[in-house]
Amino acid sequence: MFWADKLLENIKGSQVVEDAFTPSGIVHMGSLKGPVIHDVIFKILKEKGEDVKFIYGLDDFDPIDGLPSDLAKLEQYMGVPISIAPSPDGNGSFGDYYGSKMKSLLDQLGVKPEIYKTSEIYKTGKFDDAIKVVLDKVDKVRKVYAEIYKKEIDKNWFPFQVLCPNCGKLGTTKVTGWDGKEVSFECLSDLVKWAKGCGEKGKMSPFRGNGKMPWKVEWAAAWYTFGVTIEGAGKDHGSAGGSYDVAMQILEEVFEKKKPLKLVYEFFLSGGKKMSSSKGIGVNGEDLLEVLPPQIARFLMIKTDPNQQVEFNPYGTLIIPKLFDDYQKASLEKEGDMARAFDLSQTGETEKVPSVRFQVLAQWVQMPNMEDEIKKEGLEAWAKYAKVWIEKYAPDDEKFSVQKELPQKTSSLSVDQKKYLAALAEKLDNSNAEKFQTEIYELSKQLEVPSKDAFASIYISLLGKDHGPKAAWLILSLDKQFVKKRFEESSK
Ligand SMILES: [Zn+2]
Repeated sequence: MFWADKLLENIKGSQVVEDAFTPSGIVHMGSLKGPVIHDVIFKILKEKGEDVKFIYGLDDFDPIDGLPSDLAKLEQYMGVPISIAPSPDGNGSFGDYYGSKMKSLLDQLGVKPEIYKTSEIYKTGKFDDAIKVVLDKVDKVRKVYAEIYKKEIDKNWFPFQVLCPNCGKLGTTKVTGWDGKEVSFECLSDLVKWAKGCGEKGKMSPFRGNGKMPWKVEWAAAWYTFGVTIEGAGKDHGSAGGSYDVAMQILEEVFEKKKPLKLVYEFFLSGGKKMSSSKGIGVNGEDLLEVLPPQIARFLMIKTDPNQQVEFNPYGTLIIPKLFDDYQKASLEKEGDMARAFDLSQTGETEKVPSVRFQVLAQWVQMPNMEDEIKKEGLEAWAKYAKVWIEKYAPDDEKFSVQKELPQKTSSLSVDQKKYLAALAEKLDNSNAEKFQTEIYELSKQLEVPSKDAFASIYISLLGKDHGPKAAWLILSLDKQFVKKRFEESSK
């Protein structure tokens, strides 16, 4: 049984599926796995006829706690919530800038949740009830932290930080008391290494966007506030004792609600390492959707059981053509896990999948005058991806270009090869590629030139390398006079 069907086998009644993302930097491809997995869960529940809602949070009330070197100009906003700090391009907020990139990727992937901004949930007072609960029951929150981290939690610690009314920072404030209406706070210069507070002290209401809960508590607060029944987590949060477990326990012991269905999903690896946009390892979301159709990107995210790591290093490898092949195969399956993964990868009407292999198409897009053939076979959509693959990822031996001048390498042609090219130059009248391919082969037999050498001579003469795409298609994609002249020159 397909992993998601198995996971949801016994789930009944109305459901709220949630996923979330902190829009504070480049979206790497691993950040798309969560939304796609949750979308699949949502679709299966709908298919089963359950009343189901899919919500997606942009956690934009988190303070900026690090900046890539190219954004050093925003240094003064360290500690300020990303919903308030300005966008790197000057339009709107920092959070909106990266949030809109995520929204566009979700849209392309056919993932259509109800999207909310956490900053607005705070501002409109929707979290006020949860804030009151965690402040009133601070002892219980401390107890959960103490159990999980196996250390005493200070009696002065509260699960809340205010937005400093003086300097506007959130990451630098510490709440030291709660009287049922207001919290006492201090804005400290040395609370965190990455931002410096202003020294302000006072009392203020914690409600209506005046501050925020630490995100592990906030996660449980979202489950409580929105009645979430299913939310998965990536391995970075989902390991034993990690933030996912903390949030689960807070939901149960502080909010006294039932835990959502648990699902921990593994990372994508690149060359055995965890992908990371800050370290430049792996592929970001925009790059991924430039080289894969959305359906195949979804297929990549869901075809493997989420508890398994997936290696995806496309640079100089055949991993992308192989993925297209797997997708084609899955489209032909009538039943089984791959057929199910194919169905759940669709973003609308089930698409008609081309039958030409991606690797062959990648050769076609490198040949001149193949546009008609590509059109005739209905391959225009995939041709776009093949071009990107050749340009950015393909190993060198998958790339070729027809040489405008006689390649140097032709000086290495043997007497037999020259004889063969001279003969082939007189046989270029065939316009049917299949038949012509046979003819090219037959000619080598007639002349008693080993076929391997014969084909190599064609590639050397046209491409300057000893291998290439199917010879007949290559030759027919070119101007006949050009090929004739080139073969004659090469055979001299
Ligand atoms: Zn301050």
